[in-house]
Amino acid sequence: MTPPESIVIAGGGLAGAKAAETLREEGFGGRITLLGAELIRPYERPPLSKGRLLGTGEEPFVHDESWYAEHDVDLRLGAVVTGMDRKNHVVRTASGEDVAYDRLLLATGATPRRIGTPADSTLRTWPDSDRFAAAIDKGTRLVIVGAGWIGLEVASAARQRGAHVTVVTPDSLPLRKVLGDTVAEVFADLHRAHGVEFRFGTHVREVLPDGVIVADDTRIDADAVLVAIGATPSIDLAVEAGLATGDGVHVDALHTTSDPDIFAAGDIAAVEHPLLKARVRVEHWGNALDSGPAAARAMLGRGTPWEKLPYFFTDQFDLGMEYAGWVPPGAEARVVVRGDLAAREGIVFWLVGDRVAAGMNLNVWDVQEQIQALVRAGLTGGKVDLDRLTDPSVPLEDLIA
Ligand SMILES: Cc1cc2nc3c(=O)[nH]c(=O)nc-3n(C[C@H](O)[C@H](O)[C@H](O)COP(=O)(O)OP(=O)(O)OC[C@H]3O[C@@H](n4cnc5c(N)ncnc54)[C@H](O)[C@@H]3O)c2cc1C
Repeated sequence: MTPPESIVIAGGGLAGAKAAETLREEGFGGRITLLGAELIRPYERPPLSKGRLLGTGEEPFVHDESWYAEHDVDLRLGAVVTGMDRKNHVVRTASGEDVAYDRLLLATGATPRRIGTPADSTLRTWPDSDRFAAAIDKGTRLVIVGAGWIGLEVASAARQRGAHVTVVTPDSLPLRKVLGDTVAEVFADLHRAHGVEFRFGTHVREVLPDGVIVADDTRIDADAVLVAIGATPSIDLAVEAGLATGDGVHVDALHTTSDPDIFAAGDIAAVEHPLLKARVRVEHWGNALDSGPAAARAMLGRGTPWEKLPYFFTDQFDLGMEYAGWVPPGAEARVVVRGDLAAREGIVFWLVGDRVAAGMNLNVWDVQEQIQALVRAGLTGGKVDLDRLTDPSVPLEDLIA
């Protein structure tokens, strides 16, 4: 591999900014151009649906403003990449500028899904978060369309600010598709206990400036509406350039796309995962944090196969949780609990066959390493003592034979 002299990063989010940092840490002395569509320098998104809505004033920038100049990273904000010419190794921006690259990293993140009505309002960016923070206050009526992570986190923040919150979902429980009935019940109870109202089994047909219309034509009045029905990976550039794509940009275990000079990381990257033996795309913070650097090393010819397990976290009311692992789509998973779910304290495991496929700690801390070791053991031929998994007197590390 010829060493690169010029690296362009398309997408100024967490994955892109961490990639730039790693390139310099690895001693790369060439040109780094970081092209970000937003007008704000790279920042982390988790606080947008949590602390910032509560008015903590958190400013979750990835780097200080001066960092970019100090590390000779040419950060261009408001720079939307509109296309690439793979043959000539050039990307084009909306302002008509061509930027040449030896290696290109795509880190363009994801775009919230919409209902498709003009008053749709989603939460992805810092300004979105500021808009909601200003809208939710004591007595405000907020309707949240969708009962996924972002919907529930905003429900939590809005209730804490004194808003009336109604969550509408076609499902019978929040987060049911991700977590299954047993754990989804925990989240439903948590939210009900804090006064969140659920409308299950119906969907929103239309978002109006002052409410929503649900499937049976009933209207729910609202002062603010959040549409939080998931996101799709922002892969237009890759599709138009003819790279291999599907649900995300297809990359190998080194985050290389079907073009050896183009890499992808973060929410858009659908990685051929050597441990999970499947193509996996993870839309979570930990993945952006680690895959940007992994792709950066690979761009310099120093990559190592990706072995990180999918990981995510959430904070809602007084419940904090972390989850690691992966249950293959369609797999029959058995849920077992170590602890007391009614008290919202313990560890939940998803067992597929005779292995721990995933584990989640709820209001119990410093056990992620051990949970991930249990999941890894099952993926690498190790044996886990499943019979004692639920026994809190047995340390998790003692369960691996
Ligand atoms: C409100 C919210 C809360 C979240 N909370 C959690 C949480 O609690 N736990 C968790 O694990 N994960 C959470 N996540 C997910 C996590 O933030 C994402 O997985 C992470 O931001 C992905 O990073 P990324 O760099 O891939 O993409 P992004 O952060 O989306 O960055 C991509 C950037 O690329 C830019 N871009 C797109 N197209 C172009 C283009 N053509 N040219 C130039 N720039 C472009 C975008 O504008 C954006 O700035 C949350 C996400 C949101 C939105």
